[in-house]
Amino acid sequence: MALCAKKAAPKPSLGTLFMAAQWLDLLWPVFLLAGWEQVRVIPERSGVAPFDFIDYPFSHSLLMAVVWSLVFVILYRKFRPYGRGSVWTGAVVLSHWALDAITHRPDLPLYPGSKTLVGLGLWNSLPATLVTEGALFVIGIAIYLRATRPVDRTGRYSFWGLMVFLAGIYAANILGPPPPDDPVVIAGAGLAIWLLIFWGYWIDRHRAAR
Ligand SMILES: [Zn+2]
Repeated sequence: MALCAKKAAPKPSLGTLFMAAQWLDLLWPVFLLAGWEQVRVIPERSGVAPFDFIDYPFSHSLLMAVVWSLVFVILYRKFRPYGRGSVWTGAVVLSHWALDAITHRPDLPLYPGSKTLVGLGLWNSLPATLVTEGALFVIGIAIYLRATRPVDRTGRYSFWGLMVFLAGIYAANILGPPPPDDPVVIAGAGLAIWLLIFWGYWIDRHRAAR
């Protein structure tokens, strides 16, 4: 979604758009460490993700996703008075919840305390997940390449380096063993997403809008 948004709103950095796309998952490890949200790992669970998201109302309920999206828009406008960019970054934040609602089992609450849990469970099927997520990834790359061009060699290699890295992490997630059932380890891996955001800012400095 971050790669796609670069076409609709060229000015926000790819790093900012990555931050928007992962905003809910960047808050989640903080709330895990604070003990406000809970997760456990069920290694024998079939499908793609071995996680059981027991409770995550503050990072992943629909109402809070809307609130976090607005927070992101307000913060963006504080630093960049660019209306189109702020609207698109807000939309990218919300797209995370929509895509989680397609992939997760029914575990996403509508609001904190809600008993209604949403999730279509795409991750229950490994083949359907690989086809859908693989197609979205390729479409995102295609749209981004049409929207931007490298201004130097770093602009080309930093981008393709990240795409290969993302594909590698994806393969390791699917083929590798499940993570330990320890919220601190899971939160640590979640916070490592910040690396991708800095990588996005680096790429963006070496590419220009077409
Ligand atoms: Zn999420």
